[in-house]
Amino acid sequence: MRLLIMGPPGAGKGTQAAILAERLGIPHISTGDLFRANLANNTALGQEAKKFMDAGEYVPDSVTNDMVRDRLESDDATSGFLMDGYPRTLAQVAELDEMLADSSIDRVLVLSADTDAVVARLLHRASEQQRSDDSEEIIRHRMNVYSEQTAPLIELYAGRGILVEVSGLGAVNEVTEDISNALGL
Ligand code: ADP
Repeated sequence: MRLLIMGPPGAGKGTQAAILAERLGIPHISTGDLFRANLANNTALGQEAKKFMDAGEYVPDSVTNDMVRDRLESDDATSGFLMDGYPRTLAQVAELDEMLADSSIDRVLVLSADTDAVVARLLHRASEQQRSDDSEEIIRHRMNVYSEQTAPLIELYAGRGILVEVSGLGAVNEVTEDISNALGL
């Protein structure tokens, strides 16, 4: 099973992706987590990514694509994965198509949520986790970047007939249930 999960910042992608990947026995590959792990280990990649993440911008493709390619080459990803946070741009879609070559994505899950709800959630997360990209101004900027650069991917994957959309608002277990039903799990 090769799955992608998409949605605006704060829709709950990370939470649901972790639950779903565990249930399906496939690795959860989160580009945000990979960047944060690089930051924590103070790698060159982490230092490069930090400038963009702190500003609420996307990390350049030159950095992101190679990181994802490396991760997909690991043994545990050969029979399936749940990718969270990639692709986020049309250029990244082309790149991923090329990385997967003969195999393809089975489903793309969109977790939808309206702006005010996700801003409130992210501000709450900011107070709990001290993520440096969770101030209100940066959050609103990240929402705009998502609308401009990532939302168009929804239509693209819908055109391929593999899109499934579920509301990310509601209790964690209710959303998980809705996702399971939508994916026929
Ligand atoms: P969120 O979905 O709440 O924005 P993530 O943890 O998925 O949080 O991502 C955090 C940051 O990591 C993004 O704002 C961006 O700077 C960077 N990032 C993650 N994935 C990508 C990607 N595919 N392309 C470019 N930048 C990315």
